[in-house]
Amino acid sequence: MVRNLSIYIHYPFCLSKCPYCDFNSHIANQIDYKDYINAYSLELESFFNKTSKRKIVSIFFGGGTPSLMPISMVKEILDKIHKLWHVDDKCEITMEVNPTSFEVEKFKELKKIGINRLSVGIQSLNDQDLKFLGRNHNAKDSIKALNEVANIYDDFSFDLIYARPGQDIDQWINELRLALSFASTHLSLYQLTIEKGTSFYKDFKDQKFIMPSDELSALMFEKTNIIMTESGFINYEISNYAKKNKSCLHNLCYWLGGDYIGIGPGAHSRLYFDDDMSKRYEIIMTYLPQKWLNDNLKKGNAIKKKKQILKSNILEELILTALRTNNGLSNDILKNHNFLDLRTIFDYQKLLKIKKNNMISLEDDSIKIAKDYRFLANSVIFKVADAINFNDLR
Ligand code: SF4
Repeated sequence: MVRNLSIYIHYPFCLSKCPYCDFNSHIANQIDYKDYINAYSLELESFFNKTSKRKIVSIFFGGGTPSLMPISMVKEILDKIHKLWHVDDKCEITMEVNPTSFEVEKFKELKKIGINRLSVGIQSLNDQDLKFLGRNHNAKDSIKALNEVANIYDDFSFDLIYARPGQDIDQWINELRLALSFASTHLSLYQLTIEKGTSFYKDFKDQKFIMPSDELSALMFEKTNIIMTESGFINYEISNYAKKNKSCLHNLCYWLGGDYIGIGPGAHSRLYFDDDMSKRYEIIMTYLPQKWLNDNLKKGNAIKKKKQILKSNILEELILTALRTNNGLSNDILKNHNFLDLRTIFDYQKLLKIKKNNMISLEDDSIKIAKDYRFLANSVIFKVADAINFNDLR
């Protein structure tokens, strides 16, 4: 059986830095695109030697702001991937884009060179909140961009951030309903979180704004699910909603324990190599763009860290991510990682106790978080992870 592989391409530059952003994104005055194309190509080649037998099922351009890349650069990266690997006919090829007029002009060109899905960073349809979120676009730009993308792409996604300071439940419901009038097959709906190291974190500590209460956030999540379900979307991951068979394949690869390589500054990979399916590796690239570029041009790769992942850690990661999805953790996923089945890796008595509290549904071949507990997914995941039978993992 040919094993699938997904590829993430990280482009680390943005026009400005958003105050809540903890991604590896930077502002640059000048970018030598030719050097960057070479570096991306070299890094792809360095992975190819050990994954040449794979079929590529998804490619995702993220960032940063990958749509700031010249079209010719995106094309060269895609051509390189096609030259190296067998790319599946149905390969999902996504790019994150912003609704600024400069980027909207590129949507058609992106489709022509093979990007078959766009993920538009809308974040809010409220001008005041967009300002607060530090975005360079307004609600009018967003609507224009969504209309334009709908003319070109059958499948696209966009994201909104809710549970924002000062937002009440009615405002969110109205905004969500407005968003749905532009939606295609996929929506990502995240609650605003305050991450350490961001300028929001400092402002929050200095009490420059107040976050919604836990009760309001929970109510917003519940209403969101009701409205999305009524509109024909499936909540296939805590923050992601898709029409039937339109879930994002690339993200499912992350959540369901697939193999992926991350190309670009600070990108992460998790995979087995073709010559030894018993060892899974985590590989992390050098974080700073200039150093990443220099390392690739000099040595042909910019690996900062490469280590074999312990079996216990593989299992913890699978629990952490698969339980966020509506598929849950299944025996099929476990078998892909050389585990026997649920019964052998868990202390079943402990799982039955969690089930008795109605937090999970437990079938012979899968565990899923119960619908009413999805908002509290993190605490349920913690309990399930606590039921691992570590003695049986060696
Ligand atoms: S555009 Fe995206 S990646 Fe860039 S700073 Fe803003 S949130 Fe971060």
